[in-house]
Amino acid sequence: MDFVPTDQQKLLRKTVREFVDREIAPKAAEVDEKEVFPRENLQKIADMGLYAAFVPEEYGGSPVDAINRAIMVEELARGCPSTAVAFAASCLIAYTIYKFGSDELRRRYLPSFVKKVTVGAFAITEPHAGSDVAAIRTRAKLVGDEYVINGTKAMITNGAEADVYLILAKLEDEKGMNLFVVERDFPGFSPSKKERLMGFRGAATSELVLNDCRVPKENVLGEVGKGIRVAMAALDVDRTFIGAIGVGIAQAALEASIRYAGEREAFGKKIGEFQAIQFMIADMAMEVEAARLFVYKAADLWQKGLPFSTEAAMAKLKASEVAVWSALKAIEIHGGYGYSREFPVERYLRDAKALELMAGTSEVQRMVIGKAMLKQA
Ligand SMILES: Cc1cc2nc3c(=O)[nH]c(=O)nc-3n(C[C@H](O)[C@H](O)[C@H](O)COP(=O)(O)OP(=O)(O)OC[C@H]3O[C@@H](n4cnc5c(N)ncnc54)[C@H](O)[C@@H]3O)c2cc1C
Repeated sequence: MDFVPTDQQKLLRKTVREFVDREIAPKAAEVDEKEVFPRENLQKIADMGLYAAFVPEEYGGSPVDAINRAIMVEELARGCPSTAVAFAASCLIAYTIYKFGSDELRRRYLPSFVKKVTVGAFAITEPHAGSDVAAIRTRAKLVGDEYVINGTKAMITNGAEADVYLILAKLEDEKGMNLFVVERDFPGFSPSKKERLMGFRGAATSELVLNDCRVPKENVLGEVGKGIRVAMAALDVDRTFIGAIGVGIAQAALEASIRYAGEREAFGKKIGEFQAIQFMIADMAMEVEAARLFVYKAADLWQKGLPFSTEAAMAKLKASEVAVWSALKAIEIHGGYGYSREFPVERYLRDAKALELMAGTSEVQRMVIGKAMLKQA
């Protein structure tokens, strides 16, 4: 066990942090306020080589390990959570195609994630089925060399803007599910209603409609009929990234609180001199660090090819709850201004709340963890 960051990790964090402070964070309020998809930010991130970090060398990438990936996502979220979630969702698609795709699918899709900004979206949820994945109604039928897919997906991050989608659908005659790679311009596919969200307002979350959408039969990830397993494996990575976003938001809330406590005066003193404020900051610092350790542990297991579903659920649950709690503390420390849109901390709360819902609610994470604990007993 080693708690000391490597030189590579330190350098990566420093480089990404400086880039984010210079190029990404200054536009975070505008991304939220105007609900703009941060494509410009994603282009800069691609130019920095961060997309390439998720793609193996043989497809043009220059990969880094999973902890370094978590550090990147964390640092992006510290500056602009909407940008971080748009980036992480895209990298998740590249990862899943690499892990479960045929050589042909890898060759067709992976280089595009490096050469230009390719936006990805992962679509499981439907208007009437979220936690209960088995209840999805999207159906796929094999007709000749193509699957014909019909259904509607809901609340899909990057949905309105993506180029490549992973779509989970049930096969006819109860023969399991497939996870399909679907391109935006496949016939019968259309991004539909954009959701009007409380937070992550830059993430172009939207509904997707598949109306006799035709998908080549080669575009299936993993074994035919076993798509649910592929989707669940992708969710482990998704949850680790969401944990990293939670750590980034909580870190931003902590830093904003420290800054404000050093500036604001009350009763003739800086508020940071009051023990009540110091205690809140101490508790925030501890919780952020705890959440970070959960995320790095999940990432380390992922990197080593070991099972990490339970740890990913723990990382996502802990970090999302710490992000919400830290944002609330930051609002408290900012007093009335904490509630004002002039300061970023109210935005942190709105963004953080989404983390408790996406990729499985906190109740679902507790179910995953609880079941694993009882199995061990
Ligand atoms: C910002 C945002 C981005 C998202 N991005 C994506 C995306 O990119 N792709 C995607 O596929 N989905 C996405 N989602 C959808 C998200 O994954 C679902 O909202 C989530 O899984 C919950 O499903 P649901 O909304 O249908 O709630 P429901 O499943 O209807 O749950 C409603 C409530 O009941 C509880 N509940 C349900 N079942 C149980 C149970 N067995 N035991 C105890 N409590 C239970 C839930 O925890 C919740 O509190 C996103 C959601 C948000 C908010």
